[in-house]
Amino acid sequence: MGKQGECASGTFPFFYWGKDMDVAQLLQLINSHFPLHLALDWDNCGLQVGNPHQKIDRVLISLDISIQTVEEALNKGCNTIISHHPLLFRGIKRIDTTSPLGAIIEKALTHKIAILSFHTNVDVAEDGLADKLATLLDLTPEAPLEEGGLGRVCSCKPVSIQNFIDLVCERLEVEKSELRIVEGNSEVITKVALCPGSGGDLIPKAIQNSAQCYITGDVKYHQAQEALGKIWVIDAGHYHTEKIFCRLIKEVLEKHGVACEISRLQTNPFTYMGGGNE
Ligand SMILES: [Zn+2]
Repeated sequence: MGKQGECASGTFPFFYWGKDMDVAQLLQLINSHFPLHLALDWDNCGLQVGNPHQKIDRVLISLDISIQTVEEALNKGCNTIISHHPLLFRGIKRIDTTSPLGAIIEKALTHKIAILSFHTNVDVAEDGLADKLATLLDLTPEAPLEEGGLGRVCSCKPVSIQNFIDLVCERLEVEKSELRIVEGNSEVITKVALCPGSGGDLIPKAIQNSAQCYITGDVKYHQAQEALGKIWVIDAGHYHTEKIFCRLIKEVLEKHGVACEISRLQTNPFTYMGGGNE
């Protein structure tokens, strides 16, 4: 089982696992940092495919899972994949192995690769994705943005919106041409709301919380219209506001001696015509 080590949560008597961890124990480790009960009702976090008793050789971490991700895992000797977006969302009535999902399940089972997904539990949890995004942008998280725990309302040292936009580009490693901006009404900002991923529907919450700026992805046309003149909205893209998930999970696993690496596949489906893509 390995030697005893410290654990951030303090509630889980955790160990430095080395090579002895199985899939169920990996699930418990993630649960001790990002509790699964925090996941929203519609979500599907945890084991997606595989045997809970299987020993873990090496973990591949990715935002999304495609057949290429499973192939990458095979090539790198990873018998476990952790993704942010769940592989299985709704009930499935048929596993047709000629469909993209069916092919992923078939390949994973054939090669004994376990797939786990940790989604809104990581979004909501303290020191999870939203807090990590806040810290990366020099913001101090004060409270969740909505009742379910998604998003954060944060304070910051007074900064001009132009300088803040530059900081977002630098820290998220995105070009300015990749951002979509809706203009607000204050030139200096001290309160920023954020929600990694698809957060367009929380614009009214950001306004209610008197944030002068809101950072998220996937903002729709009419949501942007609601914000115009009231709050600056920085749509930095679903991918770019969530890609830090991989580093976050890697830090947790490495701390507990679990061999892992981040997927090298570029899973952002968008190409930016301003020369923005990394
Ligand atoms: Zn997402």
